[in-house]
Amino acid sequence: MTPRRTWLGIDLGGTWIKWEHVADDGRSLAAGRVATPTGGHVEVTEAIAAVCAARAGEAGRPTGLGIAVPGHLTPERDGITLLPNVSGQWRGYPARAVLAERTGLEAVLLNDARAFAVAELGGAAPVHGVEEVVFVTIGTGIGGALAVRGEVVSSRRDSFGELGHTSVVVDGEECGCGGRGCVEAYAGGAALLARARARGVAVEPGAGALTSLALAARSEPAAAQVLTEAYDAFAVGVSNACALAGAGAVVVGGAVAEELPGYATRLRQRLSRRRRLLGDVEVLSAALGPRAGALGAALAARAGHVRTGEGLVLQP
Ligand SMILES: [Zn+2]
Repeated sequence: MTPRRTWLGIDLGGTWIKWEHVADDGRSLAAGRVATPTGGHVEVTEAIAAVCAARAGEAGRPTGLGIAVPGHLTPERDGITLLPNVSGQWRGYPARAVLAERTGLEAVLLNDARAFAVAELGGAAPVHGVEEVVFVTIGTGIGGALAVRGEVVSSRRDSFGELGHTSVVVDGEECGCGGRGCVEAYAGGAALLARARARGVAVEPGAGALTSLALAARSEPAAAQVLTEAYDAFAVGVSNACALAGAGAVVVGGAVAEELPGYATRLRQRLSRRRRLLGDVEVLSAALGPRAGALGAALAARAGHVRTGEGLVLQP
């Protein structure tokens, strides 16, 4: 029997719209994904509304809807100011109101790194007794979020915790954000592969790219160098974030981090060298994998806002 109150979390990505339908106690009822349309913001919004309608038909109407987006929100959280990897003219488009109108549900928008953090803090990562936590995801780019006093923090500009765009190399590599020397410009998945190819490393196209780079690094100095620079940029940026936040734990997630354990290893080394200032900082692997964004969005819908994370046990 479907529980009385349920929450639908949507993780809007450049390639997939992932969803997870969650009961009030955190139990997952169902999950799935559909391809993200490429025809603009109206088409994308319709695709999300269609997921809601399908869930309502199959399992009963959700109580609320949360949508995690790979971009920044307006201060009122009713629209999106920056959404580089999804087609459409999002700036000025009242995404939350349109979705609420199309679905008949109360809708909550949040940044996807914040959603990841809400999910991993709320039930997955065993961050026992640690209230200040740095969350970082390594995918195509680098997402970041911070929890302070046990709550994931968001800001009016919605850029709080954006550690991928902190500079770690003076006048370094150009970054997609317009800056130079950002962590993401060395350690993001796209940058990592582009830098390897630019140095003549034969990186396979598609899904095997990271594996082929890791293999090449065993014998080719150029490949090893690119990986070392990625790991170092990551370790410096994240340990700086730990210093800034006084964090006692880092949760590392994302597909690139799963494929290349060197990121976490180098971070542990660097943190231990800075122990005198930072104290012991645990480096934890994210526990929810690619589900974290949609789960975090569902939890945010349940809480009605993004400052959540307490008292809920997520069950796989
Ligand atoms: Zn940047």
